[in-house]
Amino acid sequence: MIDQSQGRWLLGRDPQPFEGRVLGRHRPCNDDSPPISRARIDLRQLLPPWLLGAALLVSPALGLTEAPVIRVENEAAVPAAELESILQDFRAWATRVYRYNHADPGPVTLRLTRKVPFGFYQGESVIMPPSADRWEMRDNWVHELTHHATGHDSSFFFKEGIAVHTLEALFAEEGRVPATWPQFGQRTDAWVSLYLARGQLMKLSEALGWEHYRGDTADNDFRSWQIYNLAGSFVGWYVGHYGYDAFRTAFNAEWPAQDSAELERAWLAAILEKKLALFDPAAVLPKNKRYDEYARRLSVGAPHGRESRAWPAPTK
Ligand SMILES: [Zn+2]
Repeated sequence: MIDQSQGRWLLGRDPQPFEGRVLGRHRPCNDDSPPISRARIDLRQLLPPWLLGAALLVSPALGLTEAPVIRVENEAAVPAAELESILQDFRAWATRVYRYNHADPGPVTLRLTRKVPFGFYQGESVIMPPSADRWEMRDNWVHELTHHATGHDSSFFFKEGIAVHTLEALFAEEGRVPATWPQFGQRTDAWVSLYLARGQLMKLSEALGWEHYRGDTADNDFRSWQIYNLAGSFVGWYVGHYGYDAFRTAFNAEWPAQDSAELERAWLAAILEKKLALFDPAAVLPKNKRYDEYARRLSVGAPHGRESRAWPAPTK
């Protein structure tokens, strides 16, 4: 993760969040500086990449003329058979990601390394650790590959929103809800319902203008995390309401064409209509200081934050 404001980057799902470290499973999507140390870069340059995935297949039904090309840097020394299994799996998911996003990007490099705790997208590379849990790997892969499909040129809100939404939408086709950060097994709409009910939902206009992940204070860390779920929910609604092409226009402009207050009203009305059950955030978030603080902000009886809203709470 990159803290652009301080030129620092830090990794770690659960490190000390308020000591200038930048947090989050994801995702520096502005890649001005690498989430790896200089020493690691130098080491990497000494290791010739193991190129795989160059074989081309024809997939006319998908609107792609070739199967997604995945180049591999197997720094983690994943055994060949396992690596081939991962690649076969990842090519199939890449086809779905590109199709969902009407994209046919160039080759992507998959860099498997144990030096990162979760996925990043940098340059044209997805950098992620191997895992015995293939769904966890797919979770990382689909999110980060969506950044490859949609590109670097948009806002924090739209880049993360489409990545979270694409993952949620494709996993939903498998009857799954992403289990790791930022959703932790809850739908983005359910998180938004909870933010609303607890008076903790950011204004859409503020979220749209949020520049990048901010981990400098507990409040900014919480808000930055919230934007992943908020933006994932909003982008899903926006794509469903206006279509993918309109979304893409908003993505490119880094702001929707419509009035943001009107959009917020319609989006939240659609969520409230679903009457989603509230859940206990402490029961789904990881157990440590960082997430204890998230849960405290979202618990019943917590003082309303600065974003306290007049929206009615869901009925259950
Ligand atoms: Zn991301």
